[in-house]
Amino acid sequence: MHQSDEKHRKIEREKARALRKSRWWQDKLAQGICHFCEDKFSKEDLSMDHLVPVSRGGKSVKGNVVVACKDCNNRKTYKTPVEMILDSLKTGDDES
Ligand SMILES: [Zn+2]
Repeated sequence: MHQSDEKHRKIEREKARALRKSRWWQDKLAQGICHFCEDKFSKEDLSMDHLVPVSRGGKSVKGNVVVACKDCNNRKTYKTPVEMILDSLKTGDDES
């Protein structure tokens, strides 16, 4: 099982790399809005974040990948993805 986990991570990391080059991602960076705190940042302060971490079986697809500022990216390690989603719902902003 470990072997397939490793394979999964490798594949998803590759996909994330490709996604970073996509126009969709570039547009996201240009908008510069952190998914979690909804503040605006410059490109350099943003990174790609997986809502469900790759290590937990998450995939590098548009629905699972968000723009996060460095602070939120660091803070996230203390919370589970579900808690983060609940937090983002509490802000009441509809992103769609
Ligand atoms: Zn943030």
